[in-house]
Amino acid sequence: MRDVVSRQQTQAPRVARDYGEKRYVQMTNARVLVVEDEPALVETLDYSLRRQGYDVTTAGDGRKALEAARMQTPDLIVLDIMLPGLDGFEVCRILRQEMNVPILMLTARSEEVDKVVGLEMGADDYMTKPFSMRELVARVKALLRRVRIDREEAVATNAAMDVPTERMVFGNLT
Ligand code: CA
Repeated sequence: MRDVVSRQQTQAPRVARDYGEKRYVQMTNARVLVVEDEPALVETLDYSLRRQGYDVTTAGDGRKALEAARMQTPDLIVLDIMLPGLDGFEVCRILRQEMNVPILMLTARSEEVDKVVGLEMGADDYMTKPFSMRELVARVKALLRRVRIDREEAVATNAAMDVPTERMVFGNLT
């Protein structure tokens, strides 16, 4: 397994937080799985996300992505569409049946149909290459924040209703 996924052991330097609220502090340790087969882009994504304090794992093709997602249950997946073997659409479709992780899709193609297909497959957000790393980081933050707020609301609601929380966590994501 070790050669399948390159787990980044380096601790990212703590960056100044612009969040005023305590509950967002834990977001800096969110686990992000980056699925991309272009080494230069993987490196840039890995660097940029680790700078934000995220724990980043990378996978270079669809099958490795599935293995990594199942092993690590990341908090968010950045998923390229054009991948060797299983493509990003297929990876997204399979993962959607197994877990509720937010998925941010990347593609080099800008056709509207891709966006529609991606969203129908269950992606939560979508970016067309080339994109600015700042925008990607901002969208990753927004998706993680949405998940946390939904989770907190679900916990609060379910505490009031006295029902298990598990199934309601990501209810408003799409
Ligand atoms: Ca690619």
